[in-house]
Amino acid sequence: MLSPLTFSQIINKKRDGKELNQEEIEFIISGYTNESIPDYQMAALLMAIYTKGMSTSETAALTKAMLYSGTTLKHNSTNVVDKHSTGGIGDKTSFIIAPIAAAAGVDVPMIAGRGLGHTGGTVDKLDSIKGMSTKVPPKRFKKQLEEIGIVLAGQTKMIAPADRKIYALRDVTGTIESIPLITASIMSKKLAEGINGIVFDVKTGSGAFMAKKSDAKALAKSLKNTGLAFGKDVYTMITDMSQPLGDKVGHSLEIIESVEVLKGRGPKDLIEISIDLAGAMIHLGGKAKSLEGGKKLAKKMIKSGQALKKFEEVIKAQGGNTSFINDYTKLPTAKFRHVIKSPKDGYISKIEGKKTGLACITIGGGRNVKEDKIDLGAGFDFHCKVGSKVKKGQEIMTIHHNLKNKQQISSLEENFISDIFKFSKNKPTSPVLMVETKSYFSKIKK
Ligand code: URA
Repeated sequence: MLSPLTFSQIINKKRDGKELNQEEIEFIISGYTNESIPDYQMAALLMAIYTKGMSTSETAALTKAMLYSGTTLKHNSTNVVDKHSTGGIGDKTSFIIAPIAAAAGVDVPMIAGRGLGHTGGTVDKLDSIKGMSTKVPPKRFKKQLEEIGIVLAGQTKMIAPADRKIYALRDVTGTIESIPLITASIMSKKLAEGINGIVFDVKTGSGAFMAKKSDAKALAKSLKNTGLAFGKDVYTMITDMSQPLGDKVGHSLEIIESVEVLKGRGPKDLIEISIDLAGAMIHLGGKAKSLEGGKKLAKKMIKSGQALKKFEEVIKAQGGNTSFINDYTKLPTAKFRHVIKSPKDGYISKIEGKKTGLACITIGGGRNVKEDKIDLGAGFDFHCKVGSKVKKGQEIMTIHHNLKNKQQISSLEENFISDIFKFSKNKPTSPVLMVETKSYFSKIKK
């Protein structure tokens, strides 16, 4: 791919706030994918995009170039639907809703990412399951989707490879929280899956990339516009991420909590959001006439055990050992537990989302640099939510860790007590979980 401008001239152009054209964007993406453009130059351009933004047509051109950096899948079925979350803390809904929707007859070709910034990644969490491979080549991907209606895969070199490289670079260069970069990243992967419809879970609050509601709304709009431009039906749901979702944060711990929900148990907030998202997927997939109908069917899939069965099926299809479903000790487990107690009587008024995610990285449950290996057993188990009444000395959380240095654990406890948990005398209002739900049906069918 040729461009009249050199790469450094393109960096200057964006740095100076000018609009890049399609030719320049294609040049950037093909050059970075084939490694003729080095990380340091791409990092500079990403920072320029982060600070100067991109227009709707630049975002669409970036999405298209990233989408066609690899293979795109095509399916015979027209009820192919996926969900994508913009990322959060304890956000494990994929393991719950993909099997629910598939059990209800929707085809779910989910391609997910690894951890990004302070948020965890679906693919990293699946690494907790012994033998489970998230590397599913396109031919097998298609066959598995036809046979069992669900794939839980990571990006291979074949599918949106440009996003795979850029995502890892953004993770360590302070360039995550950018609406055009998030839009192109998500949409390139999702469009490559060959979907007909998509549900976006756009997170807002302190643990989200778009902490402010107005930014979350802008991101939802950008995702919707791009989805419709490519002829897809879209749900955008803006949901709360001001505190961790569910009770557990950390790779194995989140798999356990997801299985609990599939068994008909689990925390209320996680169940509620999972039913909403799965209901929307079922509606878009044509298996229910309305969102309400979709939600009803989603609940039925849990109650009947069909969703859990589907989760087992997909794990087996991808080489995983399912024995952990009835024996959680089969998952990677941390050696030590450290319990934190409430320092006072009162109410929990905040559990800072982003700081919780960053604390998880300090105990090995996330990456500081691309090459870091994750401690899959490390994480947190919260015994309270915002609004919970607590007594001095009551256990409010447990840290699961493998740290030998006691000093590290005491400073982590200090961090939780003074900076992550906030306490109040009066009962605070609990955050609204489902902030906004909108659906859009494309007139162009592609
Ligand atoms: N999820 C993605 O796939 N990409 C982003 O940039 C953010 C969340």
